Order: sequence, then C-alpha cells, then structure tokens
Amino acid sequence: LLFDDDFIAPQQVVLRDRRFQHIKQIHRAAQGDTLGVGQLNGLTGQGKITRLTDQEVELQVTLDKEPPAPLPINLILALPRPQMLKRTLQTIATMGVKTLHLIHSNRVEKSFWQTPQLQEDKVLEELLLGLEQAKDTTLPHIEYHKRFRPFAEDIAPQLAQNSKALVAHPGPYPECPQKQQQPITLAVGPEGGFVDYEIEKFEAAGFEPISLGQRILRVETAIPVLLAKLF
Ligand code: SAM
Repeated sequence: LLFDDDFIAPQQVVLRDRRFQHIKQIHRAAQGDTLGVGQLNGLTGQGKITRLTDQEVELQVTLDKEPPAPLPINLILALPRPQMLKRTLQTIATMGVKTLHLIHSNRVEKSFWQTPQLQEDKVLEELLLGLEQAKDTTLPHIEYHKRFRPFAEDIAPQLAQNSKALVAHPGPYPECPQKQQQPITLAVGPEGGFVDYEIEKFEAAGFEPISLGQRILRVETAIPVLLAKLF
C-alpha cells in the first residue's frame, strides 16, 4: 500500500474506499495483521491493522526501510494504444524504470495522444499499482514528446551521450547485451515497429540497434524481457 499524501510516520491512518476494499477483499486481512506499506518517493515499512469495520480500516504505520534502488534506465517508448499503455505503465513502475520518455512515431496513431488514459491522475493510478506490486515507492519520471523529429534530433543525442544507448528492433542486429553496470537508454517501438527513417535517426543520435532474436514480442512482453536481460 502506498500513501501519496502528506504523511509523517509513525502514525495512525484510517483508509476507506479503494484502499479499504483492497485490504479487505484482496488481502483478506483481519485485525492484528501486518501489511507492507510505503510513502510515495519515501520509505517503506509496515502497517498493523488496529481496527477493521465494514467501511474503514485503521493502521498503525511504521516506515523505516529504503525502497529498492531504481534501474539506471531511460526507457523511450513509442506511445502504446490505451489498453496496452495501462499495463505498460504498471510494468515499468514494477520493474523500477527511472525515467520514461513516451514518444510519437510513424506507427503511433495520433488519436492515442487524446486518450483519457494519458490524463495525469490515470497515469499516476497505474504507476502506483505497479509500485505497490514491487514494494517500491519511487515514482518514475515521465516525459511526453509528441513530435518524433525534435525528440530524435535534440533529446536522443543528449541521452546517448550520458548512457549506453540501444534501440530494440527486430532484424540481423547484435543480441541485446546482458548484465550491464552502466546507465542505459533503451528505445522500444510501437506495435507496428519503428520505420527505417526512425532507426536511421536513432543511429545518427548514437543508438545501437539490438535484437531479441527471431521471435517478435509484443511491446508489453518485449519491455520486461529487455530489462531482465540488461540488468
Ligand atoms: N513488425 C514489427 C517490426 O518488425 O518492427 C514488430 C514490432 S514489436 C510488436 C514492438 C517493438 O518491440 C519493436 O519495435 C521492438 O522495439 C520490440 N521488439 C519486439 N520483438 C523484438 C525482437 N525480436 N527484437 C528486437 N526488438 C523487438
């Protein structure tokens, strides 16, 4: 459970609505049980249930542990379609991605940028679900780039200067490197893949194309596979 409001531990907190339902129905928790809790961008710890009614739960909270370290990665991702975006946001938060650049590309539908799933509160909700899953508290930083060319010409070269820069693209490219110690910038394409022009632009910006082999993975599968190999 993550607290995203002002909160100073140790403290007694009363939860209702979604969090109460989550504790009661998913965790099937009872009075006296202890749950993992954390403060957004802060410490993690434990919450002991001191009272549980039909509408609310009271926790005695102690926060005393650092969250897991984030992965030193800038993930560049061509904006997925709304349903996939939700799952992808959860996955990147669960896996500890530090920064996410959502970019436009040729095979991203323009209408995807208008989707309600991109509203700030909806994005935050998915990220929180992802963080809770990993007992993490560090919110990934998200940047939005609605035009490919300025991103590729101005921002991508800067990212490539400060990290090892890779673009995942099916084809006869070197395999994805494993167990990296250095910061990585990784670009993942849309469902239809990057077009040749975009790969050329990434290469001009200092990115190296890499492959995951013959099998073409869906975006939501490619991301965890790439991250698990890289780190
Ligand atoms: N038909 C598209 C193509 O050939 O590029 C497939 C795109 S795939 C569904 C979506 C993205 O996941 C790709 O743009 C790439 O970044 C990544 N990806 C999936 N499978 C991959 C593979 N075997 N090698 C490298 N990247 C892969």
